Amino acid sequence: MPVEDTKDNLNICMDYCGTCPSLPFPTNPMLFCARGSSPEKIEKKGCKCPTCPVHEKHKLKGFYFCDSGKAP
Ligand code: SF4
Repeated sequence: MPVEDTKDNLNICMDYCGTCPSLPFPTNPMLFCARGSSPEKIEKKGCKCPTCPVHEKHKLKGFYFCDSGKAP
C-alpha cells in the first residue's frame, strides 16, 4: 500500500527527515516516500527513514527516499 500524503504522516516525517544529516535546510517538501524525491542535491550522510514509524507501518523497502523518490 503506498504511503498516503497526510498531515499525520507529514508530522511523523518531520521528526525524522526534519533532523536528517543528509538534507539541506529548510527542506521542502518532506514526506519523500509519498511525494517523491527532493529537488535539492542530497549528500548522503545518513538516513533516518529505516527508524521512522511510517517506514515500519508500510513495511517499506529501502531508504533515502529524498534521493530515490516515492516508495514503491
Ligand atoms: S520513511 Fe523517510 S521519507 Fe518517509 S515519512 Fe519516514 S522519514 Fe519521511
